[in-house]
Amino acid sequence: MQYYSLAKQSPQVDFKTAAITGQAPDKGLYFPTQIPVFTAQQIERFKTLDKASLAFEVMKPYVGGCIDDASLQQICAETIHFDFPLVPITDTILSLELFHGPTLAFKDVGARFMSRCLGYFSKQARAEKPSTVLVATSGDTGGAVANGFLGVQGVDVIILYPKGKVSPIQELQLTTCGQNITALEVEGSFDDCQAMVKDAFMDADLNASYNLTSANSINVARWLPQQLYYFFAWQQWIKLYGDTTPMHIVVPSGNFGNICAGMMAKASGLPLGHFVAACNANDVVTRYLASEKYEVRKAVATVSNAMDVGNPSNFVRILEIMQNNFASLTKVLSSYSFDDAHTASTIHSVYKTHNYILDPHGAVAFLAAEKYLAENSNSTGNIARAIILETAHPVKFPEVVEQSIEQKIEIPASVAFLLDKQKVSIPMQPSFDAFKSWMLGKA
Ligand SMILES: *Cc1c(COP(=O)(O)O)cnc(C)c1O
Repeated sequence: MQYYSLAKQSPQVDFKTAAITGQAPDKGLYFPTQIPVFTAQQIERFKTLDKASLAFEVMKPYVGGCIDDASLQQICAETIHFDFPLVPITDTILSLELFHGPTLAFKDVGARFMSRCLGYFSKQARAEKPSTVLVATSGDTGGAVANGFLGVQGVDVIILYPKGKVSPIQELQLTTCGQNITALEVEGSFDDCQAMVKDAFMDADLNASYNLTSANSINVARWLPQQLYYFFAWQQWIKLYGDTTPMHIVVPSGNFGNICAGMMAKASGLPLGHFVAACNANDVVTRYLASEKYEVRKAVATVSNAMDVGNPSNFVRILEIMQNNFASLTKVLSSYSFDDAHTASTIHSVYKTHNYILDPHGAVAFLAAEKYLAENSNSTGNIARAIILETAHPVKFPEVVEQSIEQKIEIPASVAFLLDKQKVSIPMQPSFDAFKSWMLGKA
């Protein structure tokens, strides 16, 4: 399996190079030269396969021989060793809980898979410099990357986060790891952090001293394993409803990496229903699907802040899956956008009516699921049903959730231990020059 750049100006590379470099030299995103297609017999077998074996079979074609089978099996087993339960909220809407990993967010899976791939490649090439992963985070990504890469030999991680703008639990997740993880507390905004990281990737001096790579969903090693959620959801769905009821899927979307991975799973033969992208006020894609006009906007801040993205980087990959055909795209994908007031009142009403605590991202998805099902119920008596991907544990967003449900949320043991830990961070001015001289001083 080879990967080509969607900007079409760079040579094809294998999985290893795509994972190590993140983005193509022409700044395009990598995309597989052919999407693997599973036969009907394979799909039949997938119904009952254990999670680790299923993960191995799904990922193997994408890795394309760059990792030996035994190592890939181990990487897959470590990546998915927590639960992904499908929990009914109402008669027609179920929640696929993706927050049972170590940092309580779905990004744990991609971060772990990617970290172990980079660790494997670094062990292979002993003479080379270690990889240095640079990440700018508004909260969730940093924690998942820190936790996923902690202790991985041959890979150093530097996380830039905006001072005072991540939640207390998120900050502890970023700043208490130690070892190969360094947190820089930037006196600025998330956009400042992101600009500093972008400049670093372009800087000749830093690239001479470091093997720099990114750990966001641009990287194929983080993006592609997200397909696994959809396979795990489908295994549970067919036990509940059989294999003839379509499983419609609503995904809270920011950079569109997660939903795009689901559309890859469908393109490779997994029988999934309709996709719905649930968005907050950052509604570039919602407006595009309604108008065929793609207008980038500056991101606005919302209570579902992991979806505050003005120009979703993975949307070009969705267009590529659909061969840039707008009519085909609108047959498989819808999108709705909701404001913060709606989001908060939905957390309240779903808790009161169904005794289920949504996080703000899941709440946007719930609203989109209700709307999609209302617009697409038919008169033949068949009940349409959908799943929402619940991407984070509500405890990660205590302010809005506790206010909406009018009570405290219990802190799960997997993060409670953090509360006794000491934050360690390096203060940093929001300037690339300051960041660069710190990096060069370290090299
Ligand atoms: C990252 C994130 C999202 C958005 O996922 P994309 O793949 O960027 O669309 C949604 N919810 C939560 C909690 C996240 O952390």
